[in-house]
Amino acid sequence: MALRNIVKIGDPLLRKKSRPVTDFNERITTLIDDMRETLTDANGLGLAAPQVGVLRRVVIVVNNDGEYLELVNPEITARSQETVGAYEGCLSVPDERGYLERPRKVIVKAQDRTGKSFSVNLEDMAARAACHEIDHLDGTLFVDLTTELYTEEELDRMLSEQSEENED
Ligand code: ZN
Repeated sequence: MALRNIVKIGDPLLRKKSRPVTDFNERITTLIDDMRETLTDANGLGLAAPQVGVLRRVVIVVNNDGEYLELVNPEITARSQETVGAYEGCLSVPDERGYLERPRKVIVKAQDRTGKSFSVNLEDMAARAACHEIDHLDGTLFVDLTTELYTEEELDRMLSEQSEENED
């Protein structure tokens, strides 16, 4: 396994559409292993292959139990009408956070690293992470979807002012 470099916003690779995986070969296994290691090292909630410079439809999403879900050729097949708003960030967009509504629950159909199909129900943070990572496969970043973008410093200041107000 090896750590891979995380591609940052401004790199045209992040704007490209990734291709489906058709050969479940050793290259894909190595890619997934490297993505797991890179995600652990970066302490993130999810990672998509284009973020390590590989335009293939592979993502890893951390579920609400802290387990890594390997999703190859993932598709969201159902999303709840109920949405949840939260500040979201991205390993490819350092130091920025955007407010975004996402479905509270999604069902994702995908294949595992051997090509076997499965479906998984995800809620809350894991549903948000799945939407975010699958967006990466089509070149979409959260900064395209948010109407409120803040630097981490601005957001910290804002949230602490809000909690001070709540204390009054
Ligand atoms: Zn991201």
